[in-house]
Amino acid sequence: SRHLAAAGVAVADYPKSHEQLSDIVDIHNFIDNQFVPSQAQTWIDLHDPATNNLVTRVPQSTDAELKAAVESAKKAFPKWRATSIMSRQQVIFRLTHLIRQNMDRLATSITLEQGKTFADAKGDVLRGLQVCETACGITTQIPGEVIEVAKDMETRSYREPLGVVAAICPFNFPAMIPLWSVPVATVTGNCLILKPSERDPGATMIIAELCKEAGFPDGVVNVVHGAAKTVDFIIDEPAIKAISFVGGNRAGEYIYTRGSAQGKRVQANLGAKNHAAVLPDCNKNHALNAIAGAAFGAAGQRCMALSTLVMIGETKEWLPELAERAKNLRIDGGFEEGADLGPLISPQSKKRVEDLIQSAEEEGATILLDGRGKTPAKYPNGNWVAPTIITNVKPHMKCYTEEIFGPVLVCLNVDTTEEAISLINSNPYGNGASIFTRSGPTASLFQKELEAGQIGINVPIPVPLPMFSFTGNKKSVAGTGLANFYGKDGIRFYTQWKTVTSLWRAEDALATEKQVAMPT
Ligand code: NAD
Repeated sequence: SRHLAAAGVAVADYPKSHEQLSDIVDIHNFIDNQFVPSQAQTWIDLHDPATNNLVTRVPQSTDAELKAAVESAKKAFPKWRATSIMSRQQVIFRLTHLIRQNMDRLATSITLEQGKTFADAKGDVLRGLQVCETACGITTQIPGEVIEVAKDMETRSYREPLGVVAAICPFNFPAMIPLWSVPVATVTGNCLILKPSERDPGATMIIAELCKEAGFPDGVVNVVHGAAKTVDFIIDEPAIKAISFVGGNRAGEYIYTRGSAQGKRVQANLGAKNHAAVLPDCNKNHALNAIAGAAFGAAGQRCMALSTLVMIGETKEWLPELAERAKNLRIDGGFEEGADLGPLISPQSKKRVEDLIQSAEEEGATILLDGRGKTPAKYPNGNWVAPTIITNVKPHMKCYTEEIFGPVLVCLNVDTTEEAISLINSNPYGNGASIFTRSGPTASLFQKELEAGQIGINVPIPVPLPMFSFTGNKKSVAGTGLANFYGKDGIRFYTQWKTVTSLWRAEDALATEKQVAMPT
């Protein structure tokens, strides 16, 4: 029987193991700097993907709780926006330090709730931490512009916060993606309502605790929980001015359309089908290692997973060597020494991936390496799919048209770089694409012609560091692509320009004349 810990236990510190927990601590809301037990009627059970043991329960936050989070953020906003930028910067400095100190604790929560390996979970935290580190430079990132437009007249622009903003996060990066929003939204003077994925909110709860410790005033960061109902509340609540969404196309396109129709700013990063084109002149060892790592790492549950291989010319002869590397990757519980990839997030997700592999078989592709039915001895009940390679894939096949989001690499053959470019550009997604070659001109052609928003040249996962923005394209983002996460675009997303034109001294000389026509 399940023992629910007494109210007041805010954040579970999980042991670094997949053993069944003796105490199950429910996830709380975080409102007004307090961990508040939820009065929810509906709870979502969260299972360790390696064992399917119960880890915690996540509330579907009640309307009253959601409203309380908004009220807290609204109340905090006037004072927070009036707080000097140096004081806000100091809070982010402290948060940055605390996240680094708590990296193992955060990573433990990620491995237990999400399933990725402990080493990879630390990378998840680090990538979010880097957004915090970059946000510490806000004082040189936020300044506006000024020009003397006429004698004694100047126009200057500056950026003001929007007010209350919200972030809706996916399951696959439980620390990194909340941290795409927390530092940038708050350092620019907004108050944030964060809804982590209902499948792994633990890292967000630790981040909330660290936000409080870093000195955020009450109400600047709030965390609420739930699934579609909470999302609808966020879309419809008039006080929320902007929504940051990262996740799949179905939810993201809905949120973008409905949120924009209500006049909200929405930034939305969506699904992907990232391709690698491999040329015979590349460094073969580097390319094969990079592709195996980027296709199967995190069990392929990355929006920038390299899920599609386009083999140019004779590189198709390298497939056995690639399969050998893939076969040697170890699926195991994420805390196990030497584990290369963990399980999929849920039994449903495992079934979906297996069904897609089967559909490829039925449509005439070849399963060169079959990861179905493989299970590490110690974890018979996990959601396992081992690295899988599907060859002889054609663009009409379901395994090519759908984002698989599992450790599955689909492979296509072409004869030339031009054909590879045209194939990749025909794909509706445009998150990332990579080329492996030693030829500068070929890489340059690829870089110029490719429509994906992030290009790697001998780099398998070209996600830029946060001094740049995450720049997906086409169906991998909703809307105009002007609202990218972090970097300059991130600051632009969370602020609005105000321009002030002023006239000093000369107003005395002009005081006697009235002017009704526009000045010419
Ligand atoms: P998801 O869309 O299922 O969930 C994301 C969020 O939306 C969650 O908070 C969830 O509660 C909410 N949600 C889900 N269904 C909803 C609905 N019908 N109505 C309203 N809200 C809903 O995505 P996921 O499975 O958690 O994450 C995986 C997806 O995210 C993949 O498609 C991946 O490519 C994408 N992703 C993209 C990026 C990027 O930067 N482009 C980064 C990470 C993940």
